Amino acid sequence: MSVNKYFLHYPETIQNQVMQLINSKKVKAYLLKKYPNAHNINSDKALYHYANDLKQHYLRNTPQISKALYGKQKDLIQNALGTHTFVSRNHGGKLKSKHEIRIAQSLKAAPDEMLKMLVVHELAHFKEKDHNKAFYKLCEHMQPQYHQVELDMRLFLVLVDQGEYLY
Ligand SMILES: [Zn+2]
Repeated sequence: MSVNKYFLHYPETIQNQVMQLINSKKVKAYLLKKYPNAHNINSDKALYHYANDLKQHYLRNTPQISKALYGKQKDLIQNALGTHTFVSRNHGGKLKSKHEIRIAQSLKAAPDEMLKMLVVHELAHFKEKDHNKAFYKLCEHMQPQYHQVELDMRLFLVLVDQGEYLY
């Protein structure tokens, strides 16, 4: 039995559970039960406000979000967790960083907790560029269930890859 690409770095016990769900075609039922509601953040503008509210609440002293948008992303495995863009520019001698939040278009129909997880991930990068301990601590500070939701989001991506919709 080969393990789905989204779960390669998880421990074997989790991989086995996940592959059982996938092989018995129970992913959708599992996710629906746990996440009955899709988010309703449908435009770039709404995404910006949503991210900014979270930022104001948890990460006041970080740079401003310069832009938030849903974009086309070719490779979900690389881009499912969003891409964070740090653009450095020289403004009158001062180096300014631009912080953008991009979320894959296919995540428009994701559960609300998953959108939150993606935005939390991107916001944590405003402070920590690497996926280190401090980074994940920040994520859990903003969303205590962060790790579980990230695992479940990979299951959501399995559905997307199969051309299925959750809602
Ligand atoms: Zn990241």
